[in-house]
Amino acid sequence: MPKILLLGAPGVGKGTHSEKIIKDFGIPAIATGDILRDNLKRETELGMKAKAFMESGGLVPDDLVIALVKDRLSQDDTKNGYLLDGFPRTIAQAEELDAYLAEEGSGLDYVLYLNAPKEELVRRIAGRRVCPACKATFRASDVPDGICKVCGAQVIIRKDDEAATALKRIEVYNEQTAPLIDYYKNKGILIEIDAAHDIDAVQAKVDKALGV
Ligand code: AMP
Repeated sequence: MPKILLLGAPGVGKGTHSEKIIKDFGIPAIATGDILRDNLKRETELGMKAKAFMESGGLVPDDLVIALVKDRLSQDDTKNGYLLDGFPRTIAQAEELDAYLAEEGSGLDYVLYLNAPKEELVRRIAGRRVCPACKATFRASDVPDGICKVCGAQVIIRKDDEAATALKRIEVYNEQTAPLIDYYKNKGILIEIDAAHDIDAVQAKVDKALGV
């Protein structure tokens, strides 16, 4: 089973496409943003350390995130592959991941880079609604009554999806995460996918790239 990385700016649709990929392959998704948000909600030590960085739209320091991912990757359910969403986000994180995988004699199998113009990212983030209870994500137009279609709770706008913070996150992505595109291109494992189209069209390209 493959080790897959979904790379791309906030709002490009990583979470959406992750859902089908993990079903197709029967692998877990490791989404550092979700894990950090969960820690924030439970007010753990990690959550409290990450809080200010997350709320400002900046990145949580590398050492905290790397420790959290290594811990997650040491769990049994990752033995047959996994999908990384939102990690690595800096060159330092990517190098640590490579070193960790090299130690176990493996490496990433696919890096899918989802690409869309900034205006489209802003539009998608502004229209994103999430369910605080079951974590499902929707387009605002799909939940006009504001009720989660999966569990019936009231959907909300993620705090860091509000306009000013969302723009900051895109800026941080361009500065600190976009260099990973060349990093993985140079390793010959980057597959670029034009993600400016609707979900089904992008999904078809993702399936093709992964041989589904
Ligand atoms: P996401 O849900 O992936 O957009 O992540 C939400 C927030 O969590 C980001 O804006 C960062 O503050 C933090 N975060 C998530 N993943 C990472 C990471 N790999 N490195 C640093 N900060 C992260």
